[in-house]
Amino acid sequence: MAIATASQTPTFSKTFYASLHEVEGGEKVRTCLQCGACNGVCPFGYLMDFPPGKMISALRAERFERVTEAETVWMCVSCYACTEVCPVKIPLTGGLMTRAKEELLLAGNIPSELQTALQNSQRYGNPLGESARKRGDWAKGVKPRVTIMNEAMRPVEVLWFVGDYGSYHPRVQPVSRALANVFNALGVDFGILGFEETSDGDSQRLAGERGLFEMLAAKTERALSQYEFREIITGDPHALNAFKNEYPKLGISYPARHYTEFLAERLDQLKPRLKNELNALVTYHDPCYLGRANGVYEQPRQLLGAIPGVELVEMSHSRSTSLCCGGGGGGMWMDGFQWEKAHTRLSEWRVREAVTAGADILAVACPYEAPRFEDAAKMVQKAGRLQVKDIAELLADAIGD
Ligand code: SF4
Ligand code: SF4
Repeated sequence: MAIATASQTPTFSKTFYASLHEVEGGEKVRTCLQCGACNGVCPFGYLMDFPPGKMISALRAERFERVTEAETVWMCVSCYACTEVCPVKIPLTGGLMTRAKEELLLAGNIPSELQTALQNSQRYGNPLGESARKRGDWAKGVKPRVTIMNEAMRPVEVLWFVGDYGSYHPRVQPVSRALANVFNALGVDFGILGFEETSDGDSQRLAGERGLFEMLAAKTERALSQYEFREIITGDPHALNAFKNEYPKLGISYPARHYTEFLAERLDQLKPRLKNELNALVTYHDPCYLGRANGVYEQPRQLLGAIPGVELVEMSHSRSTSLCCGGGGGGMWMDGFQWEKAHTRLSEWRVREAVTAGADILAVACPYEAPRFEDAAKMVQKAGRLQVKDIAELLADAIGD
């Protein structure tokens, strides 16, 4: 792999080290104890030439150019597990690993699948390469009709940021329709941006494309600034992360919550409408960017627990120890690369845990997960009867007509 000449200068490690100080909390990298907890908890740490602790050793030895030569850095799925366990709270995921990926991109060391997703994001405003005109097509047939801000031109209570996969992916569009039905059943006054919505860019940022992230954030701000609304609600934990933690650093500031937080607050209103019994053992997968990165653990469980006939069971990794689905940090667009390196998928590990827990249904709350876990279930023994359902789908089913 061709590496930029600048990466081979003796000062590269020092330059990189100094750049970490520009990341919030990045100066803590000095305090690394070399305890190895981050390497041990990393789901692909056993395959990576430089899991976080080893990356810091290379930095201290002024051999950081070896990191940018190692394409296994791309096995990092930005799952936050290392950041969670680091005893001295070094921002490993958003700081060290993301900065390292930025350097790999600069050096041209990038898997082709990822490059395609980034080019699509730049050209079309979404990693799937779909037309902006089709962004609101998922809502066709929803009754009452979904309000599109540009057509309605009126203030709404909730601006629903649907996200790339909720808008375009054939497995996730029904999740969006289910959530629209739940909102309608509760009489929520909501609207969507439709063709004016663009990718939140958070996964592109975590895959090292900060410039693209900033461009997408600016586009989102231009669209949002035209309208009046009380808050943003999204089903996409990466969009939530962008609105809550990343856009404010760019001066873009809106109150934002995940739909599970919004609905859990309305449980008194929702419960009487949940009439259809499910009669199933349900286990819940905590998405990395809803749980570890943003601390939302209880509300999804409260919603599931409110559905008649649901018995909740936990997998061996849950809440802050949840296993990543493999889709974060650009992993969603690098399945081929990951398979080539690991000959296994993180989503299959997770499905195996759901089967071991005896679950009938694996409940999810992130648009990356239903497609990933359904594909994985086809590969895992005894997963034939496991259903994968977004919480919004289970709520809409319980509400019925
Ligand atoms: S964020 Fe997750 S995948 Fe990336 S280095 Fe940390 S533990 Fe490993
Ligand atoms: S967990 Fe933190 S302190 Fe321990 S090796 Fe990793 S970065 Fe260093």
